[in-house]
Amino acid sequence: MRVTGARKVEFQTTGSTKAAMFRCHVGGKTESRQALVSEIFDFEGKPVQVERIPATVCLRCGEPVFSRDATERVRRMVHGEAKPIKSIQMDVLACR
Ligand SMILES: [Zn+2]
Repeated sequence: MRVTGARKVEFQTTGSTKAAMFRCHVGGKTESRQALVSEIFDFEGKPVQVERIPATVCLRCGEPVFSRDATERVRRMVHGEAKPIKSIQMDVLACR
């Protein structure tokens, strides 16, 4: 299961900077905020979008860090434990 790149981050209005034990794995920064993140994962060749994943997001580069618990929940959902809330059709384009 890998992330395909499209990402949407919704910062939480409640709960400000939560610096406890956060260190960005990209830049090593410690400023962060709680957010709900939507990511598109690739599951066996099929894109699956998971919305509102709780994450800690680096304020410097926007890289989300998911807790072990959230990662496990998302993995189980993508593997078919959760029913889709909706389905979208996707156009595929190619450069010629
Ligand atoms: Zn960062």
